[in-house]
Amino acid sequence: MKRKIIIAIDGYSSTGKSTMAKTLARAIGYAYIDTGAMYRAVTLYALEHDMFSGDSVDLAALEAALPQVKITFKAGAEGRNETYLNGRNVEAEIRSMRVSDKVSIIAAIGFVRRDMVRQQQAMGVEKGIVMDGRDIGTVVFPQAEMKVFVTASAQVRAQRRYDELRAKGDTSVTFDEVLHNVTERDRIDTTRKESPLRQADDALVLDNSHMTIDEQNRWLLEQYENAVKV
Ligand code: C5P
Repeated sequence: MKRKIIIAIDGYSSTGKSTMAKTLARAIGYAYIDTGAMYRAVTLYALEHDMFSGDSVDLAALEAALPQVKITFKAGAEGRNETYLNGRNVEAEIRSMRVSDKVSIIAAIGFVRRDMVRQQQAMGVEKGIVMDGRDIGTVVFPQAEMKVFVTASAQVRAQRRYDELRAKGDTSVTFDEVLHNVTERDRIDTTRKESPLRQADDALVLDNSHMTIDEQNRWLLEQYENAVKV
């Protein structure tokens, strides 16, 4: 039997990290955790409880409420992982622009990150896990046996996110708004004080601007086979 490892997939917004992480996890029989969904669920909670005033957050209220924010994942249709917030399926809502616009603000808060990281580390104790996010290879699992850092041009990423929203029937946003959201999240994610997005020194870099999904999946599987060999 192959040894079980931890696979950390980090990178910029809308690089298709979750799709590739999910596909890899399914192919090798690993659990998959989308950590972005956790920050998105906390953001939805804060929005629903009126904790935002413009771009500032009522930190005291959020910190007091955080122990009551329970985020879980359950397999939905076609075995897809779906996100639950206090028992309610929020998978669709957390992908909306309303949440995307505020999530990087929530993810920059130290006490939120500490709480999420603690939960993520607990999910990885048995290994056999693929986790995607921004700080998985640097903060959550610096000892991960395989680390991938995914990047692509902002234009390509915005186009993908735009097409995805359109495919879901969301015609309320323009391409420029999506592009602005992608670059703004990059800016906040890379410049924040708490665990900014950065490439781990030992990460394998994947620029998928001009790669097909098939090529990317094959590349990932190859890296996995190499990682379990050693
Ligand atoms: O991966 P996704 O784009 O859904 O993540 C949403 C946001 O959550 C990111 O833009 C980032 O601000 C934050 N995030 C983070 N650390 C993670 C995962 C996501 O800060 N591990």
